[in-house]
Amino acid sequence: MSTNEGFRADWAQKDFYAELGVGKTASSDEIKKAYRKLARANHPDSNPGDTAKHDKFKAVAEAYDVVGDPEKRAKYDEMRVYSGGAGYPGGFGGGGGGGFDLNDLLRERSGGAGSAGGGFGDMFGDLFGGGGRNRRPRAQKGADVDTTATISFTDAIDGVTVSLRMTSDSACPDCKGTGGKPGTKPHVCPQCEGAGFVVASAGGAFSINETCPMCSGRQLVYDEACPTCHGSGRGTSARTIQARIPAGVKDGQRIRLRGKGAPGDNGGPAGDLYVTVKVSGHRLFARKDDNLLLDVPVSFDELVLGAEIKIPTLGGSPVTLKVPGGTPNGRTFRVRGRGAPKADGSKGDLLATVEVQVPVVLDPAAREAVEAYRAATAGKPLRSKLFEEA
Ligand SMILES: [Zn+2]
Ligand SMILES: [Zn+2]
Repeated sequence: MSTNEGFRADWAQKDFYAELGVGKTASSDEIKKAYRKLARANHPDSNPGDTAKHDKFKAVAEAYDVVGDPEKRAKYDEMRVYSGGAGYPGGFGGGGGGGFDLNDLLRERSGGAGSAGGGFGDMFGDLFGGGGRNRRPRAQKGADVDTTATISFTDAIDGVTVSLRMTSDSACPDCKGTGGKPGTKPHVCPQCEGAGFVVASAGGAFSINETCPMCSGRQLVYDEACPTCHGSGRGTSARTIQARIPAGVKDGQRIRLRGKGAPGDNGGPAGDLYVTVKVSGHRLFARKDDNLLLDVPVSFDELVLGAEIKIPTLGGSPVTLKVPGGTPNGRTFRVRGRGAPKADGSKGDLLATVEVQVPVVLDPAAREAVEAYRAATAGKPLRSKLFEEA
């Protein structure tokens, strides 16, 4: 965090404005003037031996170093707001019994007050990692999202782009996810003392850290909840995304669409979208793995004598089945490459099953022919086996 280099935790405890005798809203010109005046008046060269003035000179120089620099001043102001230095009640440093000492927290998190590493910015970001996510951007991958899409049988074969309206959890737009009433100030969670977690006994000698139930791990609490989200910090956002369902998708298949999930935080990558595809049925075709199934009505004579039977394919030109004479009812013919697309780019097969249709009404000539057929085949022991084995 090079931008925070030179930042010091103890600044939160110092009122640089008071040191310079200016208001918090003083312009940079006013600050500069106040500094010059005080620096002159307390300069060690003009006040030899006056240690009080030497100290004042140093303090004024430190104050001007911070609030005289617009960038540092902005960070300092921000830090003061959260440290309680700005004078709101209940702040970290706000005195009072059982009060919270920011410095304790900082020591704890930085591994010692004297450690030079990190700087306040890092600790600050850590401290507000939960509730003040917007304080220090930390790129985070968005959540994965699950949804379903119902597509037609034909679209499953051909592939299709579907519009999916996604509703996902996101930070409440009014409180920016803090859960606090906008405009009000947070204070450190009294239950976890700003840790964001509490130690819970898991039985025996074990103890585990649990997310603090009071602040939900945000480390800060507000006296008044955000009226929009009632303190949850969560909102919902809806968006419509275009999802490409690949050709050949099967009913119930779960498709991963990389980067189509919830948006990432602070420039992090989006999560993934998992679409469970439901495929509607087709009036003629059914599907088994990569093969398409079709029942083909045939007449008795077509199977007996053989026939060339034209059948439809899905999304392609019809094909002709060569049914040899003496084909049993229910036989399945395989038409290669006319099934569903496979992952490798090839296609499954069309499995056509012949099924004899018995005419309900026969015209006289046909009836006569069938009766002649019966006469010609009478006496063939078609069912004799049934009785032999019964
Ligand atoms: Zn808490
Ligand atoms: Zn809210």
